[in-house]
Amino acid sequence: MNENLKIKASIITIGDELLIGQTIDTNSAWIASSLNNIGITIQRRVAVGDEWDAIWKALEEEGSKSNIVLITGGLGPTSDDITKPLLCEYFGGKLVKNQDALNNVIEIFTKKLNRPLIERNLKQAEVPDNCIVIQNKRGTAPGMWFEKNGIIFVSMPGVPHEMKGMMEDYVIPALLKKFSIAPIQHRTLLTAGIGESFLAEKLIQFETSLPEHIKLAYLPNYGMVRLRLTDLKSNSQSILIDEHFELLKSTIQDYLVVDQDLSLQEVVAIKLMESGKTISIAESCTGGYISHLITQMAGSSQYFLGGVVSYSNEMKHDALNVPSEILKEFGAVSTQTVEMMAKGIRLLSKSDFGLATSGIMGPGGGTDTKPVGFVCVGFSSEHKTISTSFQFRFDRRRNIELTAINALDFLRKNLG
Ligand code: AMP
Ligand code: MG
Repeated sequence: MNENLKIKASIITIGDELLIGQTIDTNSAWIASSLNNIGITIQRRVAVGDEWDAIWKALEEEGSKSNIVLITGGLGPTSDDITKPLLCEYFGGKLVKNQDALNNVIEIFTKKLNRPLIERNLKQAEVPDNCIVIQNKRGTAPGMWFEKNGIIFVSMPGVPHEMKGMMEDYVIPALLKKFSIAPIQHRTLLTAGIGESFLAEKLIQFETSLPEHIKLAYLPNYGMVRLRLTDLKSNSQSILIDEHFELLKSTIQDYLVVDQDLSLQEVVAIKLMESGKTISIAESCTGGYISHLITQMAGSSQYFLGGVVSYSNEMKHDALNVPSEILKEFGAVSTQTVEMMAKGIRLLSKSDFGLATSGIMGPGGGTDTKPVGFVCVGFSSEHKTISTSFQFRFDRRRNIELTAINALDFLRKNLG
């Protein structure tokens, strides 16, 4: 059997805010996906409140089922954060000051925050004397690595970027070393324009041709589906997974966006960066969301010149130069209007390309000819100005997200 399959991992997330729905437990998802990438599958995820007995029981239960128990939350300086004293008692240690953690707390308060240190903050530098201390470069609460009867328990802060930093800098490398985890091979591609069930139909034969140790996963997200091949056999040659990946690519080639683990935004960014071209965006139903997605990418100012969010006809006319006759004859949500918007924003910002959206996001505002979810997307370059339309049938939020993704895909196709 594959060695990696013998490793069992659990996640315990701690915090009352998780149980009342105030904070969404993104830590579990992130940890699960990071461990999955190195070949460790999470077998259970448990969320508990800031309550002594509940946390204690969760440690006992997960410790009896898994070899690795990753814990987040409850390490703050306030009285509801009880994870540290509890872990101390659970593993039979006593709290001692850790000099490196103390230096870190002092540095954060005196240099970065310019605030006086109070006892409560100094307490954050205390750790049980029977754990390996994981220093926190991004915050004041250190992490803790315990081992009991061969089971590893790692406690990390709840603050997502602090937890991620610790996982990347310390926990993942330490787990890889500890368990001599065989590197798992993944090959990932991104598709657009086809739903997961239709893809599955196309891939019936491909899936049956796969050897036992190569798995195909469907990872759908906002109208795009990532397909990931994973070779679970630690010592198999990469050539085998490569062969299957090539076959997968050719089977779905009509829908292939990119044969790497990249998002659509990243693909668009790479294309623009490589060609040295620029883009500007006029948004009439996505409220700046496409511009937001594009500017999530570091370095986006190299190719994104700016945008206009124009909801009124006046703005479309005054800022983007959409002729009043077009607005009057075809309406604000029309292929004619988005073409003029795309051209208008391109000329206004002197970019190489213009992209525009206009649509009816719902729940109100639909008509027989233009129902809720009807969306037009325009693209303009020096050589051509074109448009397309979509009909979505979801709620307002998903309609906006789908419009953004499909507009970016329309842009990608037209970037050549
Ligand atoms: P704590 O370590 O319990 O003081 O948590 C600090 C902050 O991290 C909380 O206020 C939450 O906003 C956030 N947080 C805690 N647990 C999680 C989690 N599982 N997922 C995402 N955010 C979290
Ligand atoms: Mg808390």
